[in-house]
Amino acid sequence: MQIMPPKKHASHSPSAQSGHAPRKRFGQNFLVDQGVIHHIVQAVNPQPQDVLVEIGPGLGALTDPLLARAGRLHVVEIDRDLIARLKQRYDPEKLTLHAGDALAFDFGALGERLRIVGNLPYNISTPLLFHLAGFAERIHDMHFMLQKEVVERMTAEPGGSAYGRLSVMLQYRFYLDWLFDVPPESFDPAPRVESAVVRLMPKPAAELCADMACLEKVVATAFSQRRKMLRNNLKTLFSTADLTALNLAPDSRPEQLPLAGFIALARRLAAKNDELP
Ligand code: SAM
Repeated sequence: MQIMPPKKHASHSPSAQSGHAPRKRFGQNFLVDQGVIHHIVQAVNPQPQDVLVEIGPGLGALTDPLLARAGRLHVVEIDRDLIARLKQRYDPEKLTLHAGDALAFDFGALGERLRIVGNLPYNISTPLLFHLAGFAERIHDMHFMLQKEVVERMTAEPGGSAYGRLSVMLQYRFYLDWLFDVPPESFDPAPRVESAVVRLMPKPAAELCADMACLEKVVATAFSQRRKMLRNNLKTLFSTADLTALNLAPDSRPEQLPLAGFIALARRLAAKNDELP
Protein backbone atom coordinates (compact mmCIF):
# COMPACT_ATOMS: atom_id res chain seq x y z
CA MET A 1 0.00 0.00 0.00
CA GLN A 2 1.37 3.45 -0.90
CA ILE A 3 0.27 6.32 1.30
CA MET A 4 -0.46 9.54 -0.54
CA PRO A 5 1.83 12.53 0.08
CA PRO A 6 0.42 15.07 2.52
CA LYS A 7 -0.40 18.65 1.65
CA LYS A 8 2.37 20.46 3.50
CA HIS A 9 3.40 24.05 4.01
CA ALA A 10 7.03 24.65 4.98
CA SER A 11 6.12 27.19 7.66
CA HIS A 12 3.90 24.56 9.32
CA SER A 13 6.65 21.97 9.57
CA PRO A 14 7.20 20.77 13.16
CA SER A 15 10.89 21.68 13.16
CA ALA A 16 10.10 25.23 11.90
CA GLN A 17 7.30 25.59 14.46
CA SER A 18 9.37 24.23 17.32
CA GLY A 19 12.54 26.13 16.43
CA HIS A 20 14.52 22.86 16.43
CA ALA A 21 16.97 22.62 13.50
CA PRO A 22 16.96 18.96 12.35
CA ARG A 23 20.35 17.28 12.87
CA LYS A 24 21.52 15.17 9.99
CA ARG A 25 23.99 13.25 12.13
CA PHE A 26 21.07 11.94 14.21
CA GLY A 27 19.03 11.01 11.14
CA GLN A 28 16.35 13.56 12.03
CA ASN A 29 13.56 13.36 9.47
CA PHE A 30 10.43 14.15 11.45
CA LEU A 31 7.11 12.57 10.51
CA VAL A 32 4.54 15.18 9.46
CA ASP A 33 1.93 13.10 7.66
CA GLN A 34 -0.97 12.49 10.06
CA GLY A 35 -2.22 9.68 7.82
CA VAL A 36 1.07 7.78 8.12
CA ILE A 37 1.23 8.41 11.88
CA HIS A 38 -2.31 7.05 12.21
CA HIS A 39 -1.43 3.95 10.11
CA ILE A 40 1.61 3.20 12.25
CA VAL A 41 -0.32 3.54 15.51
CA GLN A 42 -3.13 1.37 14.09
CA ALA A 43 -0.55 -1.28 13.10
CA VAL A 44 0.99 -1.23 16.59
CA ASN A 45 -2.42 -1.18 18.30
CA PRO A 46 -1.01 -0.25 21.75
CA GLN A 47 -2.84 -1.56 24.81
CA PRO A 48 -2.75 -0.16 28.38
CA GLN A 49 -0.83 -3.17 29.79
CA ASP A 50 1.88 -3.04 27.10
CA VAL A 51 5.53 -2.34 27.90
CA LEU A 52 5.86 0.07 24.99
CA VAL A 53 9.22 1.53 23.98
CA GLU A 54 9.82 4.20 21.36
CA ILE A 55 13.28 4.65 19.87
CA GLY A 56 14.00 8.26 18.87
CA PRO A 57 10.84 10.16 19.91
CA GLY A 58 12.19 13.38 18.37
CA LEU A 59 9.52 16.07 18.46
CA GLY A 60 6.87 13.59 19.55
CA ALA A 61 5.00 12.80 16.30
CA LEU A 62 4.50 9.17 17.36
CA THR A 63 4.99 9.72 21.08
CA ASP A 64 1.70 11.62 21.52
CA PRO A 65 -0.64 9.05 19.96
CA LEU A 66 1.29 6.09 21.45
CA LEU A 67 1.06 7.60 24.92
CA ALA A 68 -2.61 8.43 24.44
CA ARG A 69 -3.34 4.77 23.63
CA ALA A 70 -0.96 2.99 26.05
CA GLY A 71 -0.96 5.41 28.99
CA ARG A 72 2.75 4.76 29.68
CA LEU A 73 5.78 4.78 27.43
CA HIS A 74 9.55 4.35 27.56
CA VAL A 75 11.54 6.46 25.09
CA VAL A 76 15.23 6.33 24.15
CA GLU A 77 16.60 9.57 22.70
CA ILE A 78 20.19 10.72 22.05
CA ASP A 79 19.76 14.43 21.18
CA ARG A 80 20.22 16.59 24.30
CA ASP A 81 18.06 19.43 22.99
CA LEU A 82 15.20 17.06 22.24
CA ILE A 83 15.66 15.36 25.62
CA ALA A 84 15.23 18.76 27.35
CA ARG A 85 12.04 19.41 25.36
CA LEU A 86 10.65 15.95 26.12
CA LYS A 87 11.31 16.47 29.85
CA GLN A 88 9.36 19.71 29.81
CA ARG A 89 6.50 18.41 27.77
CA TYR A 90 5.64 15.03 29.25
CA ASP A 91 4.59 13.81 32.69
CA PRO A 92 7.47 11.63 34.03
CA GLU A 93 4.87 9.32 35.62
CA LYS A 94 3.74 8.45 32.11
CA LEU A 95 6.83 8.90 29.96
CA THR A 96 10.09 7.29 31.13
CA LEU A 97 12.91 9.06 29.36
CA HIS A 98 16.15 7.17 28.71
CA ALA A 99 18.73 9.67 27.53
CA GLY A 100 21.41 7.98 25.44
CA ASP A 101 22.40 5.94 22.45
CA ALA A 102 19.92 3.20 21.46
CA LEU A 103 22.86 1.24 20.03
CA ALA A 104 24.27 0.83 23.54
CA PHE A 105 20.95 0.64 25.39
CA ASP A 106 20.08 -2.43 27.49
CA PHE A 107 16.53 -3.05 26.25
CA GLY A 108 16.42 -6.21 28.38
CA ALA A 109 16.37 -4.03 31.52
CA LEU A 110 12.90 -2.70 30.60
CA GLY A 111 11.09 -5.99 31.19
CA GLU A 112 9.44 -8.78 29.22
CA ARG A 113 7.18 -8.82 26.15
CA LEU A 114 8.52 -5.47 24.99
CA ARG A 115 6.72 -3.71 22.18
CA ILE A 116 9.28 -1.52 20.42
CA VAL A 117 8.35 1.20 17.94
CA GLY A 118 10.31 3.81 16.03
CA ASN A 119 10.80 5.98 13.03
CA LEU A 120 14.44 4.97 13.14
CA PRO A 121 17.43 7.13 12.32
CA TYR A 122 18.35 5.64 8.94
CA ASN A 123 22.11 6.12 9.39
CA ILE A 124 22.24 3.51 12.18
CA SER A 125 19.32 1.27 11.29
CA THR A 126 21.30 -1.86 10.34
CA PRO A 127 23.51 -1.98 13.47
CA LEU A 128 20.44 -1.09 15.55
CA LEU A 129 18.49 -4.04 14.11
CA PHE A 130 21.38 -6.38 14.98
CA HIS A 131 21.57 -4.88 18.48
CA LEU A 132 17.82 -5.37 19.00
CA ALA A 133 17.98 -8.95 17.69
CA GLY A 134 20.12 -9.69 20.77
CA PHE A 135 17.05 -8.98 22.95
CA ALA A 136 14.62 -11.06 20.88
CA GLU A 137 13.70 -13.31 23.83
CA ARG A 138 12.30 -10.28 25.67
CA ILE A 139 10.49 -8.77 22.70
CA HIS A 140 6.86 -9.30 21.78
CA ASP A 141 6.99 -7.26 18.56
CA MET A 142 8.67 -4.31 16.84
CA HIS A 143 7.30 -1.81 14.31
CA PHE A 144 9.80 0.32 12.48
CA MET A 145 9.91 2.95 9.79
CA LEU A 146 13.04 2.28 7.77
CA GLN A 147 14.59 3.12 4.47
CA LYS A 148 12.70 1.00 1.92
CA GLU A 149 15.97 -0.45 0.63
CA VAL A 150 16.68 -1.80 4.13
CA VAL A 151 13.22 -3.42 4.30
CA GLU A 152 13.95 -4.99 0.89
CA ARG A 153 17.17 -6.46 2.30
CA MET A 154 15.47 -7.65 5.50
CA THR A 155 12.72 -9.50 3.63
CA ALA A 156 14.74 -10.63 0.58
CA GLU A 157 14.49 -14.19 -0.73
CA PRO A 158 17.63 -16.05 -1.84
CA GLY A 159 18.88 -15.44 -5.37
CA GLY A 160 18.98 -11.65 -5.57
CA SER A 161 21.44 -8.93 -4.67
CA ALA A 162 19.30 -7.74 -1.70
CA TYR A 163 19.72 -11.14 0.03
CA GLY A 164 22.57 -11.07 2.53
CA ARG A 165 23.62 -11.14 6.17
CA LEU A 166 20.75 -8.89 7.32
CA SER A 167 18.13 -11.07 5.56
CA VAL A 168 19.45 -14.36 6.96
CA MET A 169 20.05 -13.21 10.54
CA LEU A 170 16.68 -11.44 10.87
CA GLN A 171 14.68 -14.12 9.06
CA TYR A 172 16.20 -16.74 11.38
CA ARG A 173 15.07 -14.90 14.50
CA PHE A 174 11.87 -13.07 13.41
CA TYR A 175 8.76 -13.29 11.28
CA LEU A 176 8.88 -10.20 9.09
CA ASP A 177 5.90 -8.35 7.69
CA TRP A 178 6.36 -5.49 5.20
CA LEU A 179 3.34 -3.35 6.09
CA PHE A 180 3.33 -0.27 3.80
CA ASP A 181 5.50 2.17 1.89
CA VAL A 182 5.88 5.84 2.80
CA PRO A 183 6.98 8.60 0.39
CA PRO A 184 9.67 11.20 1.23
CA GLU A 185 7.04 14.00 1.44
CA SER A 186 5.71 12.47 4.66
CA PHE A 187 8.77 13.78 6.54
CA ASP A 188 10.34 17.12 7.37
CA PRO A 189 12.93 17.46 6.06
CA ALA A 190 12.10 14.98 3.27
CA PRO A 191 14.74 12.23 3.01
CA ARG A 192 16.19 11.45 -0.42
CA VAL A 193 14.91 7.88 -0.23
CA GLU A 194 11.62 6.00 -0.06
CA SER A 195 10.65 4.52 3.31
CA ALA A 196 8.61 1.58 4.51
CA VAL A 197 7.08 0.31 7.74
CA VAL A 198 7.88 -3.24 8.80
CA ARG A 199 6.77 -5.48 11.68
CA LEU A 200 9.12 -7.98 13.33
CA MET A 201 7.83 -10.74 15.64
CA PRO A 202 10.31 -13.09 17.32
CA LYS A 203 9.92 -16.76 16.39
CA PRO A 204 9.19 -19.14 19.30
CA ALA A 205 12.23 -20.86 20.85
CA ALA A 206 11.03 -24.22 19.47
CA GLU A 207 11.70 -22.95 15.93
CA LEU A 208 15.27 -21.93 16.69
CA CYS A 209 17.57 -24.86 16.15
CA ALA A 210 20.98 -23.30 15.60
CA ASP A 211 23.61 -21.94 17.94
CA MET A 212 23.55 -18.14 17.46
CA ALA A 213 27.31 -17.66 17.64
CA CYS A 214 27.86 -20.40 15.02
CA LEU A 215 25.14 -18.99 12.77
CA GLU A 216 26.62 -15.47 12.99
CA LYS A 217 30.07 -16.82 12.17
CA VAL A 218 28.90 -18.90 9.20
CA VAL A 219 26.74 -16.11 7.73
CA ALA A 220 29.40 -13.39 8.13
CA THR A 221 32.07 -15.68 6.63
CA ALA A 222 29.86 -16.80 3.74
CA PHE A 223 28.95 -13.22 2.77
CA SER A 224 32.45 -11.81 3.27
CA GLN A 225 32.86 -11.89 -0.52
CA ARG A 226 29.49 -12.17 -2.24
CA ARG A 227 30.82 -12.99 -5.71
CA LYS A 228 32.94 -15.93 -4.55
CA MET A 229 31.78 -19.54 -4.35
CA LEU A 230 30.76 -21.00 -1.00
CA ARG A 231 33.67 -23.44 -0.97
CA ASN A 232 36.14 -20.55 -1.22
CA ASN A 233 34.45 -18.26 1.29
CA LEU A 234 33.90 -21.03 3.81
CA LYS A 235 37.22 -22.86 3.42
CA THR A 236 38.46 -21.77 6.86
CA LEU A 237 35.42 -23.48 8.43
CA PHE A 238 34.43 -26.38 6.12
CA SER A 239 35.97 -28.70 3.54
CA THR A 240 34.29 -29.22 0.17
CA ALA A 241 33.36 -32.71 1.46
CA ASP A 242 31.61 -31.11 4.47
CA LEU A 243 29.48 -29.01 2.12
CA THR A 244 28.62 -31.95 -0.12
CA ALA A 245 27.69 -34.05 2.92
CA LEU A 246 25.14 -31.36 3.83
CA ASN A 247 23.73 -31.41 0.27
CA LEU A 248 25.05 -27.90 -0.38
CA ALA A 249 26.58 -27.13 -3.79
CA PRO A 250 30.19 -26.06 -3.11
CA ASP A 251 30.19 -23.99 -6.34
CA SER A 252 27.10 -21.96 -5.44
CA ARG A 253 27.29 -18.33 -4.31
CA PRO A 254 26.28 -17.32 -0.77
CA GLU A 255 23.28 -15.38 -2.06
CA GLN A 256 21.82 -18.62 -3.47
CA LEU A 257 21.82 -20.43 -0.12
CA PRO A 258 18.44 -20.43 1.66
CA LEU A 259 18.08 -19.94 5.41
CA ALA A 260 17.86 -23.74 5.92
CA GLY A 261 21.32 -24.11 4.32
CA PHE A 262 22.86 -21.59 6.73
CA ILE A 263 21.16 -23.36 9.67
CA ALA A 264 22.61 -26.70 8.50
CA LEU A 265 26.08 -25.11 8.32
CA ALA A 266 25.73 -23.55 11.79
CA ARG A 267 24.71 -26.92 13.25
CA ARG A 268 27.63 -28.64 11.57
CA LEU A 269 30.02 -25.98 12.88
CA ALA A 270 28.68 -26.43 16.42
CA ALA A 271 29.15 -30.21 16.11
CA LYS A 272 32.71 -29.69 14.84
CA ASN A 273 33.47 -27.39 17.78
CA ASP A 274 32.15 -30.07 20.16
CA GLU A 275 34.44 -32.65 18.54
CA LEU A 276 37.52 -30.52 19.26
CA PRO A 277 39.73 -31.92 22.05
N1 SAM B 1 10.01 9.84 16.08
C1 SAM B 1 10.23 11.13 15.50
C2 SAM B 1 9.33 11.31 14.28
O1 SAM B 1 8.87 10.28 13.77
O2 SAM B 1 9.13 12.42 13.85
C3 SAM B 1 11.69 11.34 15.11
C4 SAM B 1 12.26 10.32 14.16
S1 SAM B 1 13.85 10.76 13.53
C5 SAM B 1 13.84 9.82 12.02
C6 SAM B 1 14.99 9.77 14.48
C7 SAM B 1 15.07 10.11 15.96
O3 SAM B 1 16.05 9.23 16.56
C8 SAM B 1 15.54 11.51 16.29
O4 SAM B 1 14.79 12.01 17.36
C9 SAM B 1 17.00 11.34 16.69
O5 SAM B 1 17.49 12.35 17.53
C10 SAM B 1 16.96 9.99 17.37
N2 SAM B 1 18.24 9.27 17.35
C11 SAM B 1 19.21 9.31 16.41
N3 SAM B 1 20.21 8.50 16.72
C12 SAM B 1 19.88 7.92 17.91
C13 SAM B 1 20.52 6.98 18.76
N4 SAM B 1 21.70 6.45 18.45
N5 SAM B 1 19.89 6.61 19.90
C14 SAM B 1 18.68 7.13 20.23
N6 SAM B 1 18.02 8.03 19.46
C15 SAM B 1 18.61 8.40 18.31
